[in-house]
Amino acid sequence: MMLDAKVPSGPLSEKWDKHRFELKLVNPANKRKYNIIVVGTGLAGGSAAASLAELGYYVKNFCVQDSPRRAHSIAAQGGINAAKNYQNDGDSIWRLFYDTIKGGDFRAREANVYRLSQVSNHIIDHCVAQGIPFAREYGGLLANRSFGGAQVSRTFYARGQTGQQLLLGAYSSLMRQVAAGRVTLFSRREMLDLVVVNGQTRGIVVRNLVTGDIESHAADAVVMCTGGYANVFYLSTNAMASNVSATYRAYKKGAFFANPCYTQIHPTCIPVHGTYQSKLTLMSESLRNDGRVWVPKAPGDRRPPSQIPESERDYYLENKYPSFGNLVPRDVASRNAKAQCDMGKGVGETGFAVYLDFKDVINRDGKDVIAQKYGNLFQMYEKITASNPYEEPMMIYPASHYVMGGLWVDYNLMSTLPGLFVLGEANFSDHGANRLGASALMQGLADGYFVIPYTIGGYLVRMDHTEVTTDHPAFKEAVQYVTERTGKLLSINGKRTVDDFHRELGHILWEYCGMSRNDDGLLKARKLIQALREEFWENALVPGVSEDFNQSLERAGRVADFLEFAELLVMDAFERKESCGGHFNEAYQTEEHEARRDDENFCHVAAWEYKGDDTEPLRHMEPLVFENVELTQRSYK
Ligand SMILES: Cc1cc2nc3c(=O)[nH]c(=O)nc-3n(C[C@H](O)[C@H](O)[C@H](O)COP(=O)(O)OP(=O)(O)OC[C@H]3O[C@@H](n4cnc5c(N)ncnc54)[C@H](O)[C@@H]3O)c2cc1C
Repeated sequence: MMLDAKVPSGPLSEKWDKHRFELKLVNPANKRKYNIIVVGTGLAGGSAAASLAELGYYVKNFCVQDSPRRAHSIAAQGGINAAKNYQNDGDSIWRLFYDTIKGGDFRAREANVYRLSQVSNHIIDHCVAQGIPFAREYGGLLANRSFGGAQVSRTFYARGQTGQQLLLGAYSSLMRQVAAGRVTLFSRREMLDLVVVNGQTRGIVVRNLVTGDIESHAADAVVMCTGGYANVFYLSTNAMASNVSATYRAYKKGAFFANPCYTQIHPTCIPVHGTYQSKLTLMSESLRNDGRVWVPKAPGDRRPPSQIPESERDYYLENKYPSFGNLVPRDVASRNAKAQCDMGKGVGETGFAVYLDFKDVINRDGKDVIAQKYGNLFQMYEKITASNPYEEPMMIYPASHYVMGGLWVDYNLMSTLPGLFVLGEANFSDHGANRLGASALMQGLADGYFVIPYTIGGYLVRMDHTEVTTDHPAFKEAVQYVTERTGKLLSINGKRTVDDFHRELGHILWEYCGMSRNDDGLLKARKLIQALREEFWENALVPGVSEDFNQSLERAGRVADFLEFAELLVMDAFERKESCGGHFNEAYQTEEHEARRDDENFCHVAAWEYKGDDTEPLRHMEPLVFENVELTQRSYK
């Protein structure tokens, strides 16, 4: 099946305005008759729930944490992009659009990316009005810094805590609506199934994580903002609770899953240092504004960095990519770090690290200036590694960080299931095969504040309004499914911990479907995942009971879903016979070891349809049509 993204006709720059005009409106007095479920309270979910309630809809908002403020978005450090051109350095909506399309290796939908760039400027105005304390220049204008894949400074930031500040803004708007009675919050609830009635999404089934109760909630539409699945790699920079369960259950109910193999490995993370580590820490990309990446020129050089003279250092990014230097996009920086370590030039105890050095900028601007810009990041690094980055270079290595894959959505952000909208990192939409830094916050807030408030109305006015309550058999079926699955997990009674299964799954994916892949490895990974999944259902140890607070059970459910989803991820990687962005199949590379796309055969989104547990999923396509940019070999030299 060829998927129709419902991209409006007309010139690129006019599509969104035209579409907004053509979308049918819901009369203000009728809005309060509609119930909308928003799953997720991160930047996408929080902004969507607040905006929809502000419009007059009645919203139920769910999250797994004890407070919406603890959503994973709080961890975002570096910043948020917008095409304000405050620096007068040549930025524009077009340039942000082009950089994003090129950064994604020409595997994103033009119309969505252009809309994102247009809306980016409204986000900044909106957030300033909310009181977000963005960094400012001496004269009062908002400050900017640079992120990878761009030669302009367009990233707005609040020190190294941008996500936290933006989330507090969304949270304030959300709580205003809670107080007004238009949003009801359901924290500590995990969505475990989606309910579809007569082809329309009409609700969800959740487990109350404190009492263990299984609850049903009906609505006219569901907006899913449940974040990304980078934790499928076990070790990642994501919050521990980030999962694939909500999107995967929606996939099993008929929503297509797009490009699951497009995962992002971030180049600047604190390297792995032990077998039983459960979490990795990001060192924000903003550090590459001022830090210089290098390794010793000679393989096996074990001298401390201070004893390696300039002439014996290889600033490999600056040398290989003189135009973008240390600010090449993440996929490029990560692959190059791996290549240096594979050549034996890696540093640190394991040899899987490269230096990120601030000596030159501290000499130039002084320690105080650097402390003002990155103080909290330096402090975090020192606390974790016991090494002072003002004096010694940081050691960094790539780690799983973000996913460009997610549920397929059309231009209205609606999935293949009518009435199921997907926002933020949970959808696949705007970043193609590689996301540029500071673009995830932009997308989450664009989706929540500026896209869904318009497009959901267009759906609501034409949906079938037959009343559906939680007494409907479809809800009963979903409750039964969730109860049985929970019971099954608790009855395995095996000997191996769930974490141990997850760790092994992570190793398989990192080894065979990480920074580079090849067909033999992917076939092997698929078999290993199948075997591991089988063993999980025979030998996993899930203690406790269902009718209580039981974090082992929560984790087991998420890992069980990762074990199924991981197979889809490697299948998708296997079927894409090209390299693009974060998907690097070794068989398809240029002489200079850069990703080589196959535009003739793979210039499309791959969207997978679930066909049953024992049947292969079906791969559908959405052709990507480029009418405004020319497809070129991506170069950052
Ligand atoms: C360390 C780090 C730093 C980053 N820094 C930046 C940055 O500087 N700039 C940038 O642009 N991007 C950054 N990113 C990426 C960015 O933070 C995320 O992509 C973005 O915050 C995702 O927002 P979201 O609203 O889509 O999802 P999330 O913030 O992950 O929120 C998901 C929500 O869904 C809920 N949820 C999940 N599953 C369920 C379920 N089954 N049932 C009920 N609720 C559920 C959660 O409780 C949560 O409320 C960073 C990421 C990391 C890991």
